[in-house]
Amino acid sequence: MIHHRSGTLFGEDVVLVNTNGGGPRLSALKGRQVLADGVYEQIRTLIMNDGIAPGDRVNIDEVARELDVSGTPVREALARLESEGLVVRLPLRGYRVTELLTKDEVEDMYGLRLLLEPPSAAKAASVMTDAWAAALQAELDSCPVAPDDDSYEDYKALSAHDQRLHQLILQIAGNEAVAAAFERTHCHLHFFRLTYNQTSGVAALAEHREIVDALISGKPAQARKAMISHLETARDRLLVKM
Ligand SMILES: [Zn+2]
Repeated sequence: MIHHRSGTLFGEDVVLVNTNGGGPRLSALKGRQVLADGVYEQIRTLIMNDGIAPGDRVNIDEVARELDVSGTPVREALARLESEGLVVRLPLRGYRVTELLTKDEVEDMYGLRLLLEPPSAAKAASVMTDAWAAALQAELDSCPVAPDDDSYEDYKALSAHDQRLHQLILQIAGNEAVAAAFERTHCHLHFFRLTYNQTSGVAALAEHREIVDALISGKPAQARKAMISHLETARDRLLVKM
């Protein structure tokens, strides 16, 4: 069952691009990818907006009809969403939207992040270069203010910035196994589903500035401390609303 929480969920048309560059076959491939990405993004938006509620079945035919596409891109999108933990596959019966994280699961996920990220921040500070400092500053500048309303579309930019910044710090620290472990949690998606509002957005951006200041000035102990403090307060901000 699809519930429309706002009138804009299907507002963006999925456009098949088949006119520019590379001859008809390449264009068709490109068009197919654009279609697949568009369908994925729209189903993800539905899940994020509670257009399809946690626990609900996703009816492939119904979604395909709503989006006016065949079942193939819908199935592809669902496979991708499954790898992100947003849907689970039911044997012979399509897919179901996963439940929101429980309090325990949120604590566990932050527990993992607290193991991985503070030492990585310290390491990143100790190997800081001008190029990395510029990259960190550019990431901060990409999201200078928190959104002033709590719609999925507006908040998405802040969440994407948050994810990129944390990934960048792990990249600077240089341990690929740690970075991969972090990415596999898809924690930003799951936290994002739980709750979001402008107050925590403003606080998070201020905490990010503190972390980046410590990193850029090459202070490992301070970077570690700022990261611990950011993760603990972010966790508590989330738990208090659950
Ligand atoms: Zn953050």
